[in-house]
Amino acid sequence: MNLKKFILFQKYRKHVVLFNLAGILAAAALGVAIGTGAVHFGPFAGTYGPSSTGDDGVPGLERAVKSGKVAKVSPMPDGGAPNPDQAAAQEPGGPAAQSGTVSSGGRTIDLSKPMVALTFDDGPYAPVGNQIMDCAEQYGGRVTFFVVGSRVNTYRAEIQRMADDGHEIGNHSMDHKILTKLGAPEIRAQIDRCSGAVKDITGQDTALVRTPGGGVNDTVRANISQPIILWNIDTLDWKTRNADQTVQKVLSQVKDGDIVLMHEIYSQSGEAAVRIIPELARRGFQMVTVSELAKYKGITLEGGKTYSSFR
Ligand code: ZN
Repeated sequence: MNLKKFILFQKYRKHVVLFNLAGILAAAALGVAIGTGAVHFGPFAGTYGPSSTGDDGVPGLERAVKSGKVAKVSPMPDGGAPNPDQAAAQEPGGPAAQSGTVSSGGRTIDLSKPMVALTFDDGPYAPVGNQIMDCAEQYGGRVTFFVVGSRVNTYRAEIQRMADDGHEIGNHSMDHKILTKLGAPEIRAQIDRCSGAVKDITGQDTALVRTPGGGVNDTVRANISQPIILWNIDTLDWKTRNADQTVQKVLSQVKDGDIVLMHEIYSQSGEAAVRIIPELARRGFQMVTVSELAKYKGITLEGGKTYSSFR
């Protein structure tokens, strides 16, 4: 090789090295982009512990592509639901009744980890409802609002946000009437009119009912075609109007599968919720809607039946 050829060869080598270096940098950048994508698309990454941060076997890019509202990821429990006894025996951190992750409501749910449904009655009421939703969003939580139909038009933007953010909007009757005191046609009208008011905004009927005061009798059951959702942790927030007591009530007894009753119309309940949500997340609880809780505990909800927890 003469000098001229040697110089040309060196230039060529330098070019190849630079080209490869550029390739490595591009690959690294892509890797970062994919990793970042996983974080962006899975807002719950890091919230529910290590298994939701990407080591659940779903590569970042795939997770990003697949995540979307109410899309299933893998594997789905519909075929292999646990029996309720198994779920009831499960304690937070205990053996998993199901395994795998699913995508629901715009975030990932780990079926092996404990779940709780926080429910807020008597709204909508934007000052508190938005506070609850802001906090829930930070922790990947979804909650259920049982709304009073006659209030819905006053807080249309809040109702729309509930739907957009993946929260559940339940039916708490049109006028908060105690349904056990009504006849069949009035009961049906109270439920239908509330559902219509919600549908006028979101385009969706309500799927669940919570009867005002939890009042249920045979006539109520026979005339409500949706599942009736009660609760098993009663915070009595409406009575105490004390955030400390509400927080204590929930955190001292909450278990996997519970349905917690709070009210959306008191500032102290909003204050309690924004303390309860981070602590539940810290303990490894996933905050899910009532419909999600039933579904992922393998329970098919039936119209006119009452449910107070999915332990
Ligand atoms: Zn109520």
